[in-house]
Amino acid sequence: MNIKDISSEELKKMIASLKMRGITNDHVLETMSTIQRHIFMEPALRGRAYDFDALPIGFNQTISSPYIVAKMTQLLIEADNMKNVLEIGTGCGYQACILSKIFGRVTTVERIKPLYLKTKSLLKSLGYKNISSIYGDGFDGYKLNGPYDAIIMTASPSIIPDKLISQLKPNGRMVLPLNINGSQKLYRVKNTKKGILKKEVDDVLFVPMLEGII
Ligand code: SAH
Repeated sequence: MNIKDISSEELKKMIASLKMRGITNDHVLETMSTIQRHIFMEPALRGRAYDFDALPIGFNQTISSPYIVAKMTQLLIEADNMKNVLEIGTGCGYQACILSKIFGRVTTVERIKPLYLKTKSLLKSLGYKNISSIYGDGFDGYKLNGPYDAIIMTASPSIIPDKLISQLKPNGRMVLPLNINGSQKLYRVKNTKKGILKKEVDDVLFVPMLEGII
């Protein structure tokens, strides 16, 4: 059997496991069932692409487990205002592709130049037209394409960056792995009329968000 045959079976199993673990949003499940995860992996790791593990993507970075990707995406979805989303931490581009099928427009920012270039060309070759890949420091967000209905951070900061909050629309929401005294918690933040509302969702483990571009 070649990897293509294996992957469609494995993808079905992955979706079934996501349901069993409590991912309920049909939009997320349907979208994830259309995206082959192994395409984003180094050839040597493709056989493990559908396991429930975070996996290395080179440059000392990791792709999150499918469960965390699904959970964060589920937290971003609302009945309306699904037009414009910003992702901080492009990595291998898997999360960006999921977002691109759910939101009208995706802007994704990466600070490691070779990783940015590699993923930008992969996304182009896969034919994704509504994703803008940006090389930059995610602490600045990307004002030019904002304001955003939603912002997802896939690297862990120890503060919620003010600039990102300022690029959220009213009622916009943000999902991020916040590092509080060395332990990371997944937060959902909402920009309401009454101010910023924060809700702790889960324990998580992400690579740190680092300042500056390299
Ligand atoms: N969403 C990614 C996960 C990538 S891991 C995926 O689907 O593969 C987190 C990524 O965040 C890494 O690629 C890391 O280089 C990037 N990152 C860390 N700090 C950053 C910053 N300040 N600005 C932009 N990207 C950052």
